[in-house]
Amino acid sequence: MTLAVETYPTLREAAQALGDRARYLGGGTLLMRAVNYGDQSFDRIVRSREVDRTVRSEGQGIRIGAGATMADVLASRDLIALHSVARIVGGPAVRNMATVGGNLFAASPYGDFATALLALDATVQMADGQNLPMESFLSGRARMRGIVASVTVPRVGEGEFRFAKVSRIKPKGVSMMSLAAVLPGVGSGRLGDVRIAFGTMGPTPLRAKAAEQALRGRGLTDAEIEPALKVCCDGLQPADDELATEWYRREVAPVHLKRLLLGGRR
Ligand SMILES: Cc1cc2nc3c(=O)[nH]c(=O)nc-3n(C[C@H](O)[C@H](O)[C@H](O)COP(=O)(O)OP(=O)(O)OC[C@H]3O[C@@H](n4cnc5c(N)ncnc54)[C@H](O)[C@@H]3O)c2cc1C
Repeated sequence: MTLAVETYPTLREAAQALGDRARYLGGGTLLMRAVNYGDQSFDRIVRSREVDRTVRSEGQGIRIGAGATMADVLASRDLIALHSVARIVGGPAVRNMATVGGNLFAASPYGDFATALLALDATVQMADGQNLPMESFLSGRARMRGIVASVTVPRVGEGEFRFAKVSRIKPKGVSMMSLAAVLPGVGSGRLGDVRIAFGTMGPTPLRAKAAEQALRGRGLTDAEIEPALKVCCDGLQPADDELATEWYRREVAPVHLKRLLLGGRR
């Protein structure tokens, strides 16, 4: 099968050129693997010369160009809260190529950065000018035909964002599960509008809404988080794959959420 590679001057033109049998090329860590494995689902690769790798402050948020790599994230002082996430994506070679835009499309067990962005309530800017909340973007991802231009992440207070990746092989193994939480009010002892997201617990990263609700107005003590732990898998559809069964993921999710919330205390 022949594979055509088309390069367009702008992202918008590249987006217009996409069709059912075309894929946009980000860093290529997954797409080129698919090419090498002979994936027959596409026969055109679409690129653009407009690759935005910048990170800049914008109002209350930080805008990250979709072409920024995990290494770019790690080089940004503005994105210090997200360093713990970028640092665990693959090894150094992968982090030098893997883009933020590409991570939004990476299927389970990948998508650790997308899990963090979901908890952070990021907004996705598409090349055609549309703005989508991360949650809507993810729920429509399977039907998505556009190109992501950038992502805007709200700023969080010190200590309010937490992330954990659980993998069987350290440090470079893929996620058996990833978890991210934004805990407004954590410094005052009473939590506000908490957001919790899990990776590998559904076809895309998903929020644990029942647990979020159960944590509102509570403190971070063993007794006060117990109700949230009991319902943390409600509404989730854990993957059942070679890394872990669905049953196992349901069993260990409360354990890992507890560790995340209590900052490593058991
Ligand atoms: C050895 C190895 C280890 C890995 N470890 C991890 C890990 O620990 N955690 C993790 O989360 N991921 C991991 N990955 C997966 C992958 O590297 C990352 O998810 C990466 O961020 C994907 O980005 P990319 O730019 O390379 O995507 P590409 O391979 O270029 O593209 C992947 C998909 O996203 C689409 N796409 C890319 N950019 C855009 C855009 N801007 N707009 C629209 N569509 C786009 C492509 O069309 C394609 O369908 C690993 C991969 C490898 C090979």
